[in-house]
Amino acid sequence: MGRFQYSLLEQAARVPGKPRHKTREVRIGTVVIGGNNPIAVQSMTTTDTHDVEATVQQIHALEAAGCELVRVTVPKPEDAHALTRIRERIGIPLICDIHFDYKMALAALDHPIDKIRINPGNIGGPERFRQVVRKAKSRGIPMRIGVNAGSLERELCEKYGFPCPPAMVESALRYIEIAEEEGYYDIVVSLKSSDVLVAVEAYRLYAQLADYPTHIGITEAGKPPYAVTKSAAGLAPLLLDGIGDTIRVSLLGDPVPEIAAAFDILQATQRRVRRPELIACPTCGRLAIDLEKIVAELEKRLAGKRLPIKISVLGCVVNGPGEAREADIGIAAGNGKGMIFRNGEIIRRVEEAEIVDALMEEIARWEQENQHRLPPQRDAEGLGRRRLPLISS
Ligand code: SF4
Repeated sequence: MGRFQYSLLEQAARVPGKPRHKTREVRIGTVVIGGNNPIAVQSMTTTDTHDVEATVQQIHALEAAGCELVRVTVPKPEDAHALTRIRERIGIPLICDIHFDYKMALAALDHPIDKIRINPGNIGGPERFRQVVRKAKSRGIPMRIGVNAGSLERELCEKYGFPCPPAMVESALRYIEIAEEEGYYDIVVSLKSSDVLVAVEAYRLYAQLADYPTHIGITEAGKPPYAVTKSAAGLAPLLLDGIGDTIRVSLLGDPVPEIAAAFDILQATQRRVRRPELIACPTCGRLAIDLEKIVAELEKRLAGKRLPIKISVLGCVVNGPGEAREADIGIAAGNGKGMIFRNGEIIRRVEEAEIVDALMEEIARWEQENQHRLPPQRDAEGLGRRRLPLISS
């Protein structure tokens, strides 16, 4: 045998992907997170919450982008007073974000909100937290225990030296125990840090110890495009590990682009596949067709299509046939023509000008023929593409 241990390859899993971390289900208004439910995408408004018009307008823009849960900050009594009026005018569950003042949490709970977020590091200690838990329990409202490395209890920072993953997890666990003492289990946990390594390790450690669903995110990621890359760098390892039940990508400025970024991360990690996966080569000197034009046209025609199909569009015959075989439908170009593959077999040869039409026809045919094999939308989104009955010959 050679110098490598080939036997390891025999033992390795051929179909990659880890199952999701098993978590409890928690209902947040009309959305259930945890368990096998789709990983929900959420965001947070940037308006003054008491400015009802501006807040509702921003929430409507987020809803239109696909946001499924929205959070507003409640720092002052006038913000709490606005909550009922906001809730009446929006179509997605409303979450209230509380820092420092437990009285704001108690005030928010007088309104028909769907969830409350508490930062254990700054809520004023266990007894005040307990009061919030009691009221949330009496109202049947779930709570996120949102640990943040930047505002961790001083005592834990001293115990561990700095706001490291075990310190963050201990903070969450202590407050979970208090909530459980009160018979309250409608809990979601987050362990955020602006440091990707700290956040990832904190969530991994937590997942070994508890089963309340997690809200995952990299906090204060900054300004796009770096912030999107940084969020993906932190969220992808967690999602691939099976951790995360709701996701927020934090971007500086307008929150609406957070939604597309979050869905892209879920799509790329195959944790929630909502649209066709378009694989296109970067192009190079071997390019045999106008690939950019073809991909732009395909993206336009596929916009809004909810189909977990994998389509590859490659510019020449080097990788084209190979990739096309791995996809459900693929095309490999050569000499101004396109070879269309389906399940690894060449089924058609078309002129460059007809490639998009031909691909769309094949996609429609694939959809029709496989309709009965595709799971219901909810299951497909909950499990991701790799669990779909992949169509192969
Ligand atoms: Fe270049 Fe062909 Fe690879 Fe595209 S598929 S990057 S054109 S070698």
